[in-house]
Amino acid sequence: MEKTAQCNGSESCKDGGETITNAANGTQPFCFSAEPTMDDIRRLQAEFTAERDWNQFHQPRSLLLALVGEVGELSELFQWRPDATEGLPGWTEAERERLEHELSDVLIYLLELAEKCRVDLPRAVLCKMALNRAKYPAGRVRGSARKYTDFSFSEMSVIHQTGGTDKQAPKLNCCGAAHKQTCSNLRMMSMYSLVQHKAKVFLVVLYHCSCSA
Ligand SMILES: [Mg+2]
Repeated sequence: MEKTAQCNGSESCKDGGETITNAANGTQPFCFSAEPTMDDIRRLQAEFTAERDWNQFHQPRSLLLALVGEVGELSELFQWRPDATEGLPGWTEAERERLEHELSDVLIYLLELAEKCRVDLPRAVLCKMALNRAKYPAGRVRGSARKYTDFSFSEMSVIHQTGGTDKQAPKLNCCGAAHKQTCSNLRMMSMYSLVQHKAKVFLVVLYHCSCSA
């Protein structure tokens, strides 16, 4: 999606040939501005920190705690708000502005934490999405909120054999090892489920034999 104007909740975006108009409280499709990029934000925060000689304080552990604090501030906005559905209908402009501020605080600290940990976050996100697609093949888990570790043996087998059935799964070389590890984990879980299943069958047979004896 490419946005054609700076985003303040009322601009238009282009998704392919389709033009999308963002509405502040709407439930219509929504997109972000093309800029700033993640690296733009990382650089802006790095400049902000360096100008104040705050790098001495901005070590990974402290940044993580700051991030958690900002998540807490964000959570306060949603506390006791059952009306907080998609598009946030009924929220005032002031409430939406506070939301923008807290979301931004969270993102800024997250990106600075990634920088200080030397994690290339945009690339890492692509890899993680590929792993998520492998763990949750759309054709198998659609409409289900179960965690992948709660899938049945047969479901796990299908997932392992296919390595994911999601046609949109990106082919990323950077995720090759991680994807193999995921498949390996799924295979181990499948075997564990099989052992559990056989143990249950054995106990049932044993129970019936003892009853008939
Ligand atoms: Mg804040």
